[in-house]
Amino acid sequence: MGLVVYNTFSRRKEPFEPVAAGRVSIYVCGPTVYDLPHLGHARAAVAFDVIRRTFRALGYDVTYVMNITDVDDKIITRANEEGRSPFAVADEYTRAYQASMARVGVLPPDIAPRATGHIIEMVALVEQLIGTGAAYPVEGGDVYFSVRSFGKYGELSNRSLDDMRAGERVEPDPRKRDPMDFALWKGAKPGEPSWPSPWGPGRPGWHLECSAMSMKYLGESFDVHGGGQDLIFPHHENERAQSEAVTTAPFVRFWLHNGFVTINEEKMSKSLKNFVSLDDVLAQYPAPAVRMLLVAAHYRSPIDFSPDGLDEAGAMWQRFSTFARNATDALDAAPEIDDGRPLSFEADFFAALEDDFNTPSAVAVLFELVNAGNVLVEQVEAGGDPRLLRAHLATFSKMAGVLGLDPLTQWPAEESGAEIVGSLVESLLEMRERAREARDFETADLIRERLVKAGVVVEDRPGGPRWRIKR
Ligand SMILES: [Zn+2]
Repeated sequence: MGLVVYNTFSRRKEPFEPVAAGRVSIYVCGPTVYDLPHLGHARAAVAFDVIRRTFRALGYDVTYVMNITDVDDKIITRANEEGRSPFAVADEYTRAYQASMARVGVLPPDIAPRATGHIIEMVALVEQLIGTGAAYPVEGGDVYFSVRSFGKYGELSNRSLDDMRAGERVEPDPRKRDPMDFALWKGAKPGEPSWPSPWGPGRPGWHLECSAMSMKYLGESFDVHGGGQDLIFPHHENERAQSEAVTTAPFVRFWLHNGFVTINEEKMSKSLKNFVSLDDVLAQYPAPAVRMLLVAAHYRSPIDFSPDGLDEAGAMWQRFSTFARNATDALDAAPEIDDGRPLSFEADFFAALEDDFNTPSAVAVLFELVNAGNVLVEQVEAGGDPRLLRAHLATFSKMAGVLGLDPLTQWPAEESGAEIVGSLVESLLEMRERAREARDFETADLIRERLVKAGVVVEDRPGGPRWRIKR
């Protein structure tokens, strides 16, 4: 059938056709680094991580760019509050962002450009915009984009300039030609970081940096531009206007936007005080459970973070890791034969992802495989033919890897905790065996009793005891 993708621009699903055959260029708006990453950051990063991995699994050569906004009002405010350099603040939280995203299995971008490293490109873009009449400098060293000069302004967010003016409370500024005109360049105020420019010392506006950096690394027209739904207006509308006003080429083929995050059904915002950092959540829940919660929802749907939802996602992850462990153990003891048969699960899995990255359906296919695989584990343990189980495990690992949820290749022990629990349970079961051999049935029963109390189900099988965590 081929990949179809929902495009925010057309507001419908379209067959995916890249600018250059076999290649996909992706730009995703990254964080403004003034605080620890919250769940909204994790949501966007994981959503586009799965999209990137899917493109790769479908055979595309992918270039993935995610920027770091390291100069911004919020960074300057925080630096002033703490009495340190805005560059120190930005550096600290850039590293915090990268470390936290790695913990939930997000692959690092191919290119992670920082705004402060691209001032030259941004100044050049502003000069070009002034040259075409799309921008104008004003008193005070600011440069504004003239929204009335760009006839297509509002197409992406699907509203007219008049609707915007009614909807947004814009402070009147006599220097602006239209109240919706936005700053490309901001003249420096005392104590702020600044760079030289033809309009005096200043710094770039937020929207400008993404136009300059995306076109620098991916060209004037590229395939996918991503970000949260809250970025459609004004950020992406403005990026498009700035870019197309200069190049006159279509800036982006597919605009993709991920859904919001709620916490216990309340929309997340700092003012509501339900702002939860990703690290807070990871202190209480295993990282794969957090990732499972994010992946099991469609990227365009809202996600609610609640203790119940996280427990459920943790149980789903346990089923993945238990299957992988039991199948590996069973196959270790079986003869090495593999008939390399492709399983129908794989076709179903990729058909789901090719339908606008439908991860809920893809996860459902994985659970069908796990259920069938668990039956095969028992057959192989009883001496049955291992070939089909081997094919199931290989297919499972490949598919789960596309979602970044493969227990065989990901998640070091300190993240999942599962390995630590696993080796402790194995040790206790070994001690129980020794007690039984020594006919110390009292100790053997006590160990089993304690394990059951801790939520571990133990089944005695001819090949030795088997265990799983009770849910
Ligand atoms: Zn951006």
